[in-house]
Amino acid sequence: DSGPKYDFIIVGGGTSGLVIANRLSENKRVTVAVIEAGDSVFHNHNVTNVAGYGHAFGTHIDWAYETEDQKYAGGSKQIMRAGKAIGGTSTINGMSYTRAQSVQIDAWELFGNKGWNWGSLLPYYQKSEKFEIPSQNQFSRGADYYITYHGETGPLNVGWPIDITNRSMLPTLDQTFNQLGVPYNRDANGGSMVGLTSHPNTVNTKENVREDAARAYYWPYQNRPNLKIITNTFANKIIWANNSHSEAVAIGVEVTTSHGIETIYASKEVILSAGSLKSPVLLELSGIGNPDILRKYDIPVKVNISTVGENLQDQTNNGVHYQGTEFWLGYPTFSVLASANQIYGNNVSNVASYVNSSMVEYAKVVSNSSKGAVQEANILAAFKLQYDLIFESQVPYAEIVLLPIEGMFMSEYWPLLPFSRGSIHIKSANASMPASINPNYFMFKQDLDAQVDVARFIRKAFMTDPLSDLVGDEFAPGVDNLPDDAPTSEWDDWVKSNYRSNFHPVGTASMLPRNRGGVVSPELKVYGTRNVRVVDASVLPFQLCGHLTSTLYAVAEKAADIIKKQYRL
Ligand code: FAD
Repeated sequence: DSGPKYDFIIVGGGTSGLVIANRLSENKRVTVAVIEAGDSVFHNHNVTNVAGYGHAFGTHIDWAYETEDQKYAGGSKQIMRAGKAIGGTSTINGMSYTRAQSVQIDAWELFGNKGWNWGSLLPYYQKSEKFEIPSQNQFSRGADYYITYHGETGPLNVGWPIDITNRSMLPTLDQTFNQLGVPYNRDANGGSMVGLTSHPNTVNTKENVREDAARAYYWPYQNRPNLKIITNTFANKIIWANNSHSEAVAIGVEVTTSHGIETIYASKEVILSAGSLKSPVLLELSGIGNPDILRKYDIPVKVNISTVGENLQDQTNNGVHYQGTEFWLGYPTFSVLASANQIYGNNVSNVASYVNSSMVEYAKVVSNSSKGAVQEANILAAFKLQYDLIFESQVPYAEIVLLPIEGMFMSEYWPLLPFSRGSIHIKSANASMPASINPNYFMFKQDLDAQVDVARFIRKAFMTDPLSDLVGDEFAPGVDNLPDDAPTSEWDDWVKSNYRSNFHPVGTASMLPRNRGGVVSPELKVYGTRNVRVVDASVLPFQLCGHLTSTLYAVAEKAADIIKKQYRL
């Protein structure tokens, strides 16, 4: 044991990992190391530029994970983006700050995660947040809020970009969507998300730069002597104690640096925060997972949890775009979060009964596709919950982002709660080899139908006064290419040839009771281990209707308190 030693090792200095590192190192008596494959992007203009969304894609700070061929979605592979930097994916994301519908978080507790509900998570959303009250000018352009939902003293700047699209945009959208039954929602961050809204972003308005996890939780604290970030260092696997305990005990992490392979030791815990497309892979490489998979690569089974890497849930994104009749400057912040009732109108009960009658079959397909690793009864219970959320609770069913930018009026959308379930698993015992990522996009007819139905709804909205005055020709998909009454198969083809990942993968190390397919406990501890946790998007058991970072910051804040409590820090 000659390598460096810390109390806590956090693998991944990203969105979640830096929260844990910050909160644990508040206590001067503990030492914390963060192992991060990337480097500082503090001065990287592709990161800091508030209007630079997409500029970092494909650069050295994008992992650009490649999926397997998507057999239900036309066959081709997809790229799943993720940030490789101090700050992780928060350094390259779209900065939207929206949380979740309260019942979705309550469902975590309903499924056996004691202590996890909206009421108990809200204080942590607020703890992380430094809400910037919009200026009069921003307010006049749609920035609005209820202060009781927000925190004003946390590390994370949340607010609106300095320049929001012009003043008449919100009233125009409001009048239009009202006619489609979608009301205005002043502040979607109080647990009730449905409606047209101008949501805040993770942005530092004063400095006019992106607010990412590093700017919030790391850079202002980088001089703490008990907090060490080890960059350009790739974690390979957990190193275990040689013992006969019934629980596996981690003693450190094997890493690859520019000098070769080393071990960094942890006296208390190893916390995996490498993201939902990496933490489950690290578990498998460390011998925690499905024995059928581990044995293929001669990895000794430390803990048998067959659902590691299962339950992968992502969304799919398409665009419906128009020529504008005006030229818009400023940053658009408008989204429509529409419920199933609003999307389907009178047809909603037909859709609901179709979904209801399909779920048993869907559950069989998911279970078979996981070779039985996911139990049919477990996934069916999750589907029933999802059905209730969509059709009973009427949580948002789709997000439609409205993007009036210069001479174009674009929109991007994604159905929020697809039924498709995929997986991520190792393809080698060598940590530097890519994993097999298979989100199974459009595995089920309902998911493909939803993708088409929302596109049609958007088209209807753009044909409705007064929004219709702001647009000329539709250039994607284009009414000539794809008239309203085009056969469904043509709409399906358009979706499949143009969709992308919505970059919201969750669930690959779900927080659920073990007999329900969980990988981590409500304390976020990996079952069968004494001192390994996962804290990142992997643990969210179900997809959310909000964008993910707000909830990930809150979950990590709560996780930090759980850890501190256990060690009396
Ligand atoms: P990450 O933030 O990805 O952190 C993981 C860290 O671990 C990274 O720094 C990575 O480099 C490091 N790491 C991985 N493997 C290793 C290893 N083996 N060794 C050492 N280090 C390792 N969410 C929103 O809220 N709003 C948005 O507008 C939004 N838009 C998005 C747009 C894009 C293009 C993408 C990709 C995502 C978007 N999201 C958005 C989603 C959100 O940003 C992510 O879900 C979230 O940041 C993930 O946080 P995490 O803590 O799970 O992982």
